[in-house]
Amino acid sequence: MTDTSPLLQVSGVEKSFGDHHVLRDISFDVGAGTVTVIIGPSGSGKTTVLRTLNALDVADRGTISIGDVSVDFGAKVDRSTLATFRGQSGMVFQAHNLFPHKTVIQNVTEGPIVVQKRPKAEAHADAMRLLTQVGLAEKADQYPYQLSGGQQQRVGIARALALKPKLMLFDEPTSALDPELVGEVLRVIRDLATEGWTMVIVTHEIRFAQQVADQVLFVDNGVVLERGTPKDVLANPTGPRLRQFLHRIL
Ligand code: ADP
Repeated sequence: MTDTSPLLQVSGVEKSFGDHHVLRDISFDVGAGTVTVIIGPSGSGKTTVLRTLNALDVADRGTISIGDVSVDFGAKVDRSTLATFRGQSGMVFQAHNLFPHKTVIQNVTEGPIVVQKRPKAEAHADAMRLLTQVGLAEKADQYPYQLSGGQQQRVGIARALALKPKLMLFDEPTSALDPELVGEVLRVIRDLATEGWTMVIVTHEIRFAQQVADQVLFVDNGVVLERGTPKDVLANPTGPRLRQFLHRIL
């Protein structure tokens, strides 16, 4: 049975770039083992929300708790707290950002060996298991340029999983792919959902959201404007902004 106590709690997060107040007040919870999809217009702050969850962008204010690590970004946050916080989540980006001069398996083992100081043999065995999971075991010794965009994204997913995060974050994982490659990446993410991974996914793939999301957040202009089950948010949108957004993309 899925444990639905919140793994992620976000409260009053704000973020500005210069005088541009991008996140104005972001609050939501994510239950352990559940999938949250974030939708919203371009420029509304979706990517910035994800980046604050991993402190790639450090929030100016607000509290973010992942598991038992809670950080109040309104106070001074020291480096070691920030490093611990970052280790709680793994991020998959829009375009693959694999190391081009390393093989697939080296891309996956780099973090565990260099950052987490795990034994090489263990990291290697783990990486092979993950590459098998994403259907790429036979590509282990190839280089990123020898793979399709979809395969590169799957390696990116294996690489993030290898660090054993509590929370997986996906920033438009299929938007840079040719249409025929989207399905294979979404399938891998769907399998992770079935396995019980806790995930937050920014995507425009509404049908995918309907299938895998436990919760959908509609972010507009730096706030969570609507939040609920896919049925509530996608099938029965109430607010005019959301209706307008869905009308445009569907
Ligand atoms: P979305 O993912 O919804 O398209 P983003 O979170 O990428 O939106 O961006 C929200 C706004 O924040 C945009 O106006 C964008 O230009 C701005 N922004 C994002 N990152 C930065 C940055 N590092 N420096 C300055 N402005 C940024």
